[in-house]
Amino acid sequence: MKNTGEFELIGRISESVRDSVPEGVTGIGDDCAVIPQQSGRDTLVTTDLLVEGRHFLLPGISPGELGWKSAAVNISDIAAMGGRPESAFLSIALPGGFGPEWVDEFIAGFRELAGRFGVALLGGDTSASPDKLFINVTLLGSCEGGKALKRSGARPGDLVCVTGTLGDSGAGLRLVTEQASGAATAESGTARYLLRRHCKPEPRVAEGLALAGIPGVHSMMDVSDGIASDLRHILDASGGLGAEIETGSLPLSGELLEICRERCWEAARLALCAGEDYELLFTIAPEALGSVQAALEAAGGAVATVIGRITEAGTPLCWKGWEGEPPRGFTHF
Ligand code: ADP
Ligand code: MG
Repeated sequence: MKNTGEFELIGRISESVRDSVPEGVTGIGDDCAVIPQQSGRDTLVTTDLLVEGRHFLLPGISPGELGWKSAAVNISDIAAMGGRPESAFLSIALPGGFGPEWVDEFIAGFRELAGRFGVALLGGDTSASPDKLFINVTLLGSCEGGKALKRSGARPGDLVCVTGTLGDSGAGLRLVTEQASGAATAESGTARYLLRRHCKPEPRVAEGLALAGIPGVHSMMDVSDGIASDLRHILDASGGLGAEIETGSLPLSGELLEICRERCWEAARLALCAGEDYELLFTIAPEALGSVQAALEAAGGAVATVIGRITEAGTPLCWKGWEGEPPRGFTHF
């Protein structure tokens, strides 16, 4: 079989259904579909599939953590549009050995996070699976009509910003992988922090809502595959813009720096390429920076760091301070 990339496949699907998308509806290509309602608000819809061995390793993640993470990755896509998450649908395909206790713990973890945002589980589907565990969550949310923050709104001259820190989840995954291969991972506070960032990510809902209220915020998405490929989506969706990113400005946690020193891991590579940070990547007019920082502080959420700027259409994406092949994010296939 020809090795067709994930995004090429999505592009093919998108092309072949484009003529069926109603006027005014945003379909394939953003973190959520955006469907205008008569009420004047827009409905946001997202769905994510988690496959054992691809998206998570067993026993590397507990049932409760997996329930949390299944909710988190979808809630994060609603946050990425500046929306409010509302209701969820859960489909699971369970191989042998996953009994009622496993399901109870999974649902408890799912509810622990979903409950914080008032997200109710309203339906789903359940099947047996011949081999691996599959989890699919669909999340519905809403935002003020026409106010969804899309990937396509970036403009030349915009500052590129990101909430929180990058690379922690990637380091957490390395620790999970080490544990799965039988290596003893130190029970340090640093390891616990990084494992938590990987297994129980915090979707940036309050931050997304705060940013959606600021006119100078032009585009946004969440960081699922690593900014090396996620930023590309913003540039492509915004008409083939370029960007200059200062890799020395990437926000890195003390815990990431510590483990990278200990294990000789490259912190910048984890921050750019590993993904699953579920932070918000967004672009703003330079004069909006003060309002952005003030709104994030008022929301009690993660602060934002400026990591670069958007350049004219046709200019390249430059990773300043990065040597060798351009960094690449996670991709299936
Ligand atoms: P995210 O990482 O934000 O969840 P993805 O990279 O998974 O986004 O998907 C990008 C876009 O492609 C989204 O709009 C998603 O809905 C759409 N998409 C992905 N796979 C399919 C598919 N099999 N059929 C239709 N749309 C898809
Ligand atoms: Mg996303």
